[in-house]
Amino acid sequence: MMVSATVETLTHRTLKWLEQRGVIERLSPQIPETQHSFQAQTALTFLTSSWFVLLIVMHPAVLSRLLALAKPRFDVLEIAYSCYVGVVAHDLWFFLIHSQLHRIKWLYRWVHITHHRNMGDLNVFGTADMDPFEAVAMVFSFYAATLLWGAYVVGSWNPWAYTALILLEANMNMMGHCGYRQPLWLAMIQSWGICLTPGVAHAKTHYIHHLDPRMNRALYFSWWDRLAGSWRDKHPAIREFTPAEQLEYELRAFRMLAGVMAKWLPPKYTSSTPVAALLKAAKRLAQPAQSLLLLASVASCHAAPA
Ligand SMILES: [Zn+2]
Ligand SMILES: [Zn+2]
Repeated sequence: MMVSATVETLTHRTLKWLEQRGVIERLSPQIPETQHSFQAQTALTFLTSSWFVLLIVMHPAVLSRLLALAKPRFDVLEIAYSCYVGVVAHDLWFFLIHSQLHRIKWLYRWVHITHHRNMGDLNVFGTADMDPFEAVAMVFSFYAATLLWGAYVVGSWNPWAYTALILLEANMNMMGHCGYRQPLWLAMIQSWGICLTPGVAHAKTHYIHHLDPRMNRALYFSWWDRLAGSWRDKHPAIREFTPAEQLEYELRAFRMLAGVMAKWLPPKYTSSTPVAALLKAAKRLAQPAQSLLLLASVASCHAAPA
């Protein structure tokens, strides 16, 4: 819980810092944010729902098996592969349960409505602002199942890969709830590169779910919503950028970076031959490279069938 409060606060402050410098902007700047700190509901949810995993994991038979089969290997390829498979599997798990929370009216009114108090005013502090039952059904049950799968089906599990999956999902979840228009470089950092997958969900995708709860019920990819006919990528509250505006938006961070370097880097570094040559080459390459990045972003948004 303390970790969650710290991470949410740090992410929120970083995004605000970027917003104040004109690098990023809200998806609906006309709607003011209403939550400005870590939510009491989030704390309550963590305290009352995390027991679900502990109850399963701390059972003597399960615990001894998990300890015996744990194989901590810091293998980057294995961790990346596990994270990717984990995110894809969790997306389907999340979509199926989340859809029921919307379809079954009493479940929506008694449980899921807590999370939907946040609409266009959504920000990072709304990420885990939900009913404890929902946290068990959509999040903690998946983590418990993943551990049991490793222990009883695969026959081993890697604590590094498991921890990385939780961190990645927390990051992507905050991304989905931040309420900011997301440039590609930010999506790359927050999703650890997964944003290049065709049909990936962006910050706008889940923001639209909070504006129109019938649509966009998956969290990480748009595949299931496209198949189920519940996909939406435009909303009247979000102004659509022209390609030129989008390109300008992608380049804002690079301009800020260039400005900071010009201001703070001592002239002896910028004028020395190798550094000057490097800066010159980077300047020449910047425009086509950024255009390619933009094309990749557009391709990843539109590659999957509508
Ligand atoms: Zn949400
Ligand atoms: Zn929902």
